[in-house]
Amino acid sequence: MEVNRAPCTTRSFGHGFAEVDACVHCGLCTQSCPTYLLTGRESMSPRGRLWTMRALGEGRLQATEAVLADLDACLVCRACESACPSSVRYGAVIAAVRAGTRRRSFVRRTLFALLPRRGLLQTFASCLRLWQRSPLRPLRALLPPGLRRMEAALPEVPSAAARAALPRFTAARGERLGATALLEGCVMSVLFQDVNRDTVTLLAAAGFDVHVPPAQTCCGALHEHDGDLNGAHALLQRNAIAFESVPEAVLVMNSSGCGTAFRDAERSIGAPGATLTRRSVDVTRFLLEHGERLAFRPHQGVVTLDAPCHLHHAQGETTAPLALLARVPGLALVPMKDAELCCGSAGVYNLDHPELAEATLAGKLDHLAATGATTLLTGNPGCILQWRAGVRARGLAVEVLHPVTFLARLLHT
Ligand code: SF4
Ligand code: SF4
Repeated sequence: MEVNRAPCTTRSFGHGFAEVDACVHCGLCTQSCPTYLLTGRESMSPRGRLWTMRALGEGRLQATEAVLADLDACLVCRACESACPSSVRYGAVIAAVRAGTRRRSFVRRTLFALLPRRGLLQTFASCLRLWQRSPLRPLRALLPPGLRRMEAALPEVPSAAARAALPRFTAARGERLGATALLEGCVMSVLFQDVNRDTVTLLAAAGFDVHVPPAQTCCGALHEHDGDLNGAHALLQRNAIAFESVPEAVLVMNSSGCGTAFRDAERSIGAPGATLTRRSVDVTRFLLEHGERLAFRPHQGVVTLDAPCHLHHAQGETTAPLALLARVPGLALVPMKDAELCCGSAGVYNLDHPELAEATLAGKLDHLAATGATTLLTGNPGCILQWRAGVRARGLAVEVLHPVTFLARLLHT
């Protein structure tokens, strides 16, 4: 997918400029940066990128293709934020700069415009499913390279029945302990509606009503990642209003990218986003703290866990997934080296930067193989797709699942 450029000006930085000033150039972040570890180049490190963005903002550096390419190669995994002793919120800076420097192609804008339109998105998904089963599929060789890559990266689209909308309300099983609300999401509702259903099952079994407000929409995380801050913020505003319809419900997030968008909503859109920030929590944290009623059967086989960047680094949720999984009797949970390092999915990064994304995942696939695991768990749709593609290409006998799917399969009913 082609990205065109616009000149970078100090206006591009928006609220991110003050964040650049907080950097003291200590370099403690460099060793946690996947693109620096791969290339060894300062301009591909967080410190180097912050310097670049500052120089661009102050007009000391020209926004050439080469300069912007190194900024574009950032995964926005935010591992540098976890490592930074000065609390530089790198994610806010790069989002502000991308908003000022990126201009998306027509194809890209069309695809991103589809995400918040559930009806159109589902129609598009049905067309894709038809195409994937069509005898004409070999004609994809004629597509432009960007579209061809995108087509090849797509997993099999589930049937319309499997993608059907969730019930707007599911009652708690047994004694009612409280209310929750679920975001169906865009990618989640098309490719991972089964994970959404399993989330409803676990929440209801734990004693919570589950609301799915009809006015909700895409969280905007992919738009922000792509530099469309206005689009992302408009979607957050709509969600803030949609979830006001269930004011008493906790917003339980089962996609770490969407969870981060909601948790950051107050920073992104100010007071209207405060309710999303305050009320949202990752599903693993919620079930850990409120799922006493859930009982699981033992699982045979070795399991390992990969930490989605937006859960581990952006939300700082480093313990709940492991602690929740420890409730499965006798679970053989083997730690994976560099589990907190990005897998290379990062929104649509694996489409824009296929070589870097592949190289980022390659080392992690070695670490996965070393665990001897037959199941890999990770809580973000993009990461699940990236891992599944890598595991398939490497020929590893590993099933890649969302933790919610894994737990729902083991739930005592
Ligand atoms: S967000 Fe990730 S890829 Fe980008 S500079 Fe920080 S650590 Fe590196
Ligand atoms: S760790 Fe923080 S202060 Fe140090 S160079 Fe990186 S961003 Fe700057």
